[in-house]
Amino acid sequence: MIEIRTVDQLHVDGSRVFYRVDYNVPLEGTTITDATRIEETLPTLRLLRERDATIVIASHLGRPKGSRNEKYSLKPMRAKLAELIGADVQWVDDCIGAQAEQKAAQLKTGQMLLLENLRFHPGEEDNDRDFARALQRLAPDAYVNDAFGASHRAHASIEALPLLYETDHTAGGLLLAREIEFLQKITNVSDRPFVALLGGAKIAGKIEPLEALVKQADTLLVGGGMANTFLAAKGINMGASLVDKESIEVAKRISSAKVVLPLDVVLEDGSVVEVSKGLTEKKKALDIGPRTIAKFSEVLKKARTIFWNGPMGMFEKKEFAAGTMAMARAVAEANAVTVVGGGESVEAVKESGYADRIGHISTGGGASLEFIAGAKLPGLEVLRAS
Ligand code: ADP
Ligand code: MG
Repeated sequence: MIEIRTVDQLHVDGSRVFYRVDYNVPLEGTTITDATRIEETLPTLRLLRERDATIVIASHLGRPKGSRNEKYSLKPMRAKLAELIGADVQWVDDCIGAQAEQKAAQLKTGQMLLLENLRFHPGEEDNDRDFARALQRLAPDAYVNDAFGASHRAHASIEALPLLYETDHTAGGLLLAREIEFLQKITNVSDRPFVALLGGAKIAGKIEPLEALVKQADTLLVGGGMANTFLAAKGINMGASLVDKESIEVAKRISSAKVVLPLDVVLEDGSVVEVSKGLTEKKKALDIGPRTIAKFSEVLKKARTIFWNGPMGMFEKKEFAAGTMAMARAVAEANAVTVVGGGESVEAVKESGYADRIGHISTGGGASLEFIAGAKLPGLEVLRAS
């Protein structure tokens, strides 16, 4: 269990607040294709503005690897945020330095200044204290973190920076608090059965959360590429399907009566085969089949807690989206605490049209999985209450 200090307890009247957000939103050129991550910061921003703070907003975007690259400029987020919050947002094209300091110092009550990408400086990813000090000069009074998706990284704006403030001048924002509240329900389940619905491409990179879920959950429904690997581990011929060969041993170790695998799969040509028969050499399993959909849906219906990570198939192609969309519906209709996490999983849920019927959609893919696996997240540790 982790409890963090939250922004509502923070004294911010007339303060200059450093607000770390995750505006790492999907872009096509300079057009924002999904502004969810910006929308989700509005409650904290409104709270800070109501309490007469001035706000210096900072984020990362993409992986510019420590140098300036216009492709990763946060400039498009300025206009989007201004539009969403209905107020002017000032801008400075470097996150540290004289100009940024000057603009930050001139902010009046309730005003906001958005900084250019933190990762244009190597100090951010190096968790560099001098870089953190340069950031603190912009907003010396208080620090608020709402960047859950970056909180598993020991980066300067996540770890070194909050450590420079007095403890009671730092807090998590409302979004961070909500993430923790819901993910805690998954790591400390009180309403059972607890069903984990897992899919996606590979097992690699998800081994610890998978092992944590095997201990916690009553049932693991496994589909997608992940299931291919479990099936291959049972000696079933998966043909040319995506199989994470390096994780076969892990799959063998994790396999138990709790792990429910697909009964049938959809092949490239749209035909459905029973898994027990195995696939011939050139065949690829790209979605779960109708019998599997029925079985998984039935299990989800009885669940009281559900965590979902990983699509059931190659849902980006319409022909192989049925399994994933059916699961989105089953999760939405379940009478349960429901949490969905993971980049593609969240995308799929939004596409399904059931997003607003999911209890919590975690903004941080990697961070949510690490949290569930019981890892200590540097960005949360520094905000720990008591
Ligand atoms: P998340 O981002 O939600 O954690 P992953 O990154 O693990 O999920 O996996 C998502 C990807 O897995 C999707 O792009 C999807 O196309 C792919 N995928 C799922 N099932 C299969 C499959 N059977 N064959 C090939 N790719 C698959
Ligand atoms: Mg992904």
